[in-house]
Amino acid sequence: MSDSLISAILAAALSAIAMTVIVGGRYVITSGLFAWITSRVRPGLYHGMGPQIGRELRWSLLSAAIYGIPAGIVAWGWQQRGWTRIYTDVDAYPLWWLPASLLVYLFLHDTWFYWTHRWMHRPKVFAAAHAVHHASRPPTAWAAMSFHPLEALTGAIVVPALVFLVPIHVAVLGAVLLVMTIMGITNHMGWEMFPRWLVHSPLGAWLITASHHQRHHEQYKCNYGLYFRFWDHLCATDRGLSAP
Ligand SMILES: [Zn+2]
Ligand SMILES: [Zn+2]
Repeated sequence: MSDSLISAILAAALSAIAMTVIVGGRYVITSGLFAWITSRVRPGLYHGMGPQIGRELRWSLLSAAIYGIPAGIVAWGWQQRGWTRIYTDVDAYPLWWLPASLLVYLFLHDTWFYWTHRWMHRPKVFAAAHAVHHASRPPTAWAAMSFHPLEALTGAIVVPALVFLVPIHVAVLGAVLLVMTIMGITNHMGWEMFPRWLVHSPLGAWLITASHHQRHHEQYKCNYGLYFRFWDHLCATDRGLSAP
């Protein structure tokens, strides 16, 4: 192997390790923050759930590596090799593309999630890949990344694949990751942080918040979506809201 190839592999590996630390740190800080808010807003909600939270933490930290490795390699390729369609010049595409790309990314991620999630509820796949996530009954703010490695892999490849296909400004990509992080945690934390008027509004009928995903964890065979209720409505798998 040539020296330049070895140094490229080393740099990509370092980037993967750095990204794993970032994803793990982001998880601990944001889940910890929402767990702390939960202890203030709903005192005692996680009472007696220490062992489950320990399992959620361990699975989530393993998932951080599975998410961090492809993201780190792609981030290295973007910086060093001009890979991906991530752009930094706001004028590289029309301005309307900034908000539109956010919605496109969320919709595509949601679509991938809905269909892979339904597939993971087939009995054999469920036992192998998805039972870990459903072992959280009810889930807590620490369950956001509590996945078996097979399930984590299906989630980890989405955004690293999309950046090769759909142009996105680096700041919008940051916004996608922020929404992904916040909704992943708050949808599992066991109480609704959005106001009732929003959750029960016409807009709320199309958005997924804790009240919607909680019902998935209670009843399993419904409410499979991630951000939007579009696919659940279209495929008649939407069973409305729980009352966390
Ligand atoms: Zn869940
Ligand atoms: Zn599920």
